[in-house]
Amino acid sequence: MRLVILGGPGAGKGTQAQLLCRDLGIPCLDIGQILRQKIKSDTELGRQAKPYVEQGELVPDEIMIQFVRQQLLEPNVAKGWLLDGYPRTAFQAEELDFLLEDLDQRLNWAIYFNVPETVLKQRSLVRSRADDQPEIVERRIELFYQRTVPILEYYEPRGRLLDINGEQSPEQIYQTICQHLTVDR
Ligand code: AMP
Repeated sequence: MRLVILGGPGAGKGTQAQLLCRDLGIPCLDIGQILRQKIKSDTELGRQAKPYVEQGELVPDEIMIQFVRQQLLEPNVAKGWLLDGYPRTAFQAEELDFLLEDLDQRLNWAIYFNVPETVLKQRSLVRSRADDQPEIVERRIELFYQRTVPILEYYEPRGRLLDINGEQSPEQIYQTICQHLTVDR
């Protein structure tokens, strides 16, 4: 199974990603978290990504596309994966399909956690990390609507979008996702 999950900061992706990966037995690639690790260990990629991550801006597509290519070539992800935090732009979504074509793989579903903007704001300000300034949190939400939401128009006509009401309880959300996933593709 190959899945991407989409949702703004505070949409509840992390919890669902963990449950899905556990039950489907697939590795979870949390791209934002891997980037933060690369910054900490001061790798070449970390140095390139750092100024963007610190400001809540998106790391340029060219850097991200190369990075995700390397991640998906790792042997532990050959049989399936869940990508959290990627793609984040329509260009990345398209490039991901090209990459998968090269690897003779295909994406099963893009799962979107649909939550109103006011709820995203409340939730992400409450749980923001110590190093996040409120204006950076706001900027992430703004970028989510500008750059990530257009991805829905990429996956929807291709029949790969699961648009999930993210205001339900975590249990309900998980159940809804599982019902759709049993209709395998
Ligand atoms: P996250 O933990 O998913 O919020 O990601 C943390 C930061 O990493 C984001 O604010 C961006 O600066 C960067 N980032 C993560 N994923 C991407 C992506 N797909 N494209 C560009 N930048 C990204």
